[in-house]
Amino acid sequence: MSVAASFSPALGSFFSLSRSPSRFRMTLQSNSVSVTATVSPLLTKLKRDCATPLPVLEEVADAMSAQMRSGLALDAPTQLPMIPTYVQNLPTGNEKGLFYALDLGGTNFRVLRVQLGGKEERVIATEFEQGPIPQHLMFGTTEELFDFIASGLAKFAEKESDKFHLPPGRTREIGFTFSFPVKQTSIDSGTLIKWTKGFAISGTEGRDVVACLNEALKRQGLNMRVSALVNDTVGTLAGAEYWDNDVMVAVILGTGTNACYVEQINAIPKLQGHVFPSGRMIISTEWGAFSTSLPLTEFDEEMDAASINPGEQIFEKTISGMYLGEIVRRALLKMAQVGGLFGKSVPQKLTMPFTLRTPDLCAMQQDNSVDLQAVGSILYDRTGVESNLSARKIVLEVCDTVIKRGGRLAGAGIVGILQKMEEDSKGIIFGKRTVVAVDGGLYENYPHYRAYLQDSVTELLGLEKSNNVVIQHSKDGSGIGAALLAASNSMYKHQF
Ligand code: ADP
Ligand code: MG
Repeated sequence: MSVAASFSPALGSFFSLSRSPSRFRMTLQSNSVSVTATVSPLLTKLKRDCATPLPVLEEVADAMSAQMRSGLALDAPTQLPMIPTYVQNLPTGNEKGLFYALDLGGTNFRVLRVQLGGKEERVIATEFEQGPIPQHLMFGTTEELFDFIASGLAKFAEKESDKFHLPPGRTREIGFTFSFPVKQTSIDSGTLIKWTKGFAISGTEGRDVVACLNEALKRQGLNMRVSALVNDTVGTLAGAEYWDNDVMVAVILGTGTNACYVEQINAIPKLQGHVFPSGRMIISTEWGAFSTSLPLTEFDEEMDAASINPGEQIFEKTISGMYLGEIVRRALLKMAQVGGLFGKSVPQKLTMPFTLRTPDLCAMQQDNSVDLQAVGSILYDRTGVESNLSARKIVLEVCDTVIKRGGRLAGAGIVGILQKMEEDSKGIIFGKRTVVAVDGGLYENYPHYRAYLQDSVTELLGLEKSNNVVIQHSKDGSGIGAALLAASNSMYKHQF
């Protein structure tokens, strides 16, 4: 199996920090004791507002189960869209041939090809390229965004090596992973419900995103066919289940967040009247929109109010990568302004939204040095503040508080899904080994977050049940998964 190098390390710039000691120094604040005294009530309040003891986690898990039920019902007012994906069958392993996948996330864009060899050979070869989605496209036009995707695909397709072959006369087929809420109308069509994760492109909502892509492919002169439109969670589920049949749920924790699972058709009142031979369908919960019983702070409320989608995606804003750094920045800003955390003045940079990113929190939490040198350097580079040791320790406590809440709430959400599935069909989750496949840059790269998520699942389920529930990182499952779904919905599938 070969993997091509990425053409641009999407997140590399997050780590291009200056470590030069001359660019920052540890300030010798004479008032370090009093700073701790003035900041400590603020820290205590933050910790109290973010607390997720077991009863809170239980309430969140129960509310998640209840909201899933209302979302599946016909007309109930609901937080969770619970979108039928029209994916009724997961890949069987028999899929054969060359398939492409496109993955448009919130931060990154990836293209991938895979040569599938059926039950025996499985994945014979795979190659991918990835790069950041240019910022200006998030606020541009629909055509600009889809032209960017199509031209990335065209460049990648040109470089197809001889490890890959398409039988003569066939068209290359694509699985399109589109990680935004879509009202799916069939396996290969669906209209955008709304942009999330900071995207604000006018005119796309209500349009079929496959049609938008097809038009852009035509403008590029590319003869390829989209045979599956999937959400990143669905791709992850398909990709992980291909290797392990116990996978029942998939979760994305990256820029944004979502979860999907396999549901029985008779438990989906809003699909009654339609015939689905397999008797089951993957449901995309769109759980980012969940908002019941969440422990929120003044900083969450301010961030939400300043966002491009106020009042929406509250769970996403509490647990996902796009937002955790910003919540910490807002908390630090208040501690600086009210409690003098970084001395008398507050640098302009610290007042600017999104200057501190989630990967920065992660890098700071990994600093084990005595004087927290890396914490000081990251703080200086990102926000312009000069910090003494006691301030750095407080910064780490703020990071930990926000990350702990995020990870634990994500765990409660997962238990909410497992609980709902078990209530409907006793034994399908807790009577056996069950795997929850998780992917996304936040889960993959942030060990503290991952550990808090696992703690929460273990606390909620108890040791015995949680031993059978495996929360597993499914790396890049969504790309391969989308290609697999393109294969299982291929127009050539009778020839496999
Ligand atoms: P996408 O959301 O575009 O599909 P990813 O799944 O790769 O992309 O997630 C990217 C997000 O993951 C980033 O926006 C960031 O919030 C988070 N992330 C990436 N690297 C790290 C890291 N080292 N620590 C914490 N979070 C990270
Ligand atoms: Mg993604």
